Amino acid sequence: MVKMDDSLNYAERWRPGNLAGLNKRFEGAEPEKLLRWALHTYQEDVAMATGFGASGVVLMDMVARIRPKTTIFYLNTDLLFPETLALRDQLAERLDITFTSVHSAISLGTQAAMYGEQLWQRSPDLCCKLRKVEPLRRFLADKKAWVTGIRRDQSATRANTAMIGWDDANRLLKLSPLAGWTKKDVWKYIYERDLPYNPLLDQGYTSLGCLPCTRRANGATDERASRWVGFEKVECGIHG
Ligand code: SF4
Repeated sequence: MVKMDDSLNYAERWRPGNLAGLNKRFEGAEPEKLLRWALHTYQEDVAMATGFGASGVVLMDMVARIRPKTTIFYLNTDLLFPETLALRDQLAERLDITFTSVHSAISLGTQAAMYGEQLWQRSPDLCCKLRKVEPLRRFLADKKAWVTGIRRDQSATRANTAMIGWDDANRLLKLSPLAGWTKKDVWKYIYERDLPYNPLLDQGYTSLGCLPCTRRANGATDERASRWVGFEKVECGIHG
């Protein structure tokens, strides 16, 4: 467990101004270079997050080959698509990964009793906070870095994603080795390695989250267009 004074020193060490050198070192390099550095530097103190999207599949394939015992976790909201859960099981077998399920402290039933039925229809921000943001914060509390599959080309909100950033909300380094990759790069890797992916991505969905908040994208180019249709919201809160 990271102590408070350790945490303060760690935050001081990785102030945004101190990250420029590292970002320069890894920008434009293959994602594996950053992953090798991070996974071997932080070992048990680094974890990879995935929502089982196409980028996540690429990243977990790289992580599983570089350091097989690395913790790979997903936010189990109780509302994931059955296809996503089936893909999880397929990937677990293919890549020999034991995924860590990070669950909200409250069940859907308790949430409904406290805030009313189908909270996501009225207040998706609160629902995401309860089922994603707070569980993530608790899970990352004793980590020093986390790895995500987000890319700059996914949406305007992700256009400035750094390869290595300081996640001030969760107080640790946030690594995005695929930040500079394009959608085309991701699919090339998936086809070349013959990796499984979510079949819903062939059926008009461009990004997959919880079942009640995900729709077909109807030809929109923004990958996040299939999420929270009807709301201004484009992020669940874990990426800012
Ligand atoms: S994506 Fe929707 S259902 Fe899932 S946690 Fe957020 S608001 Fe709730």
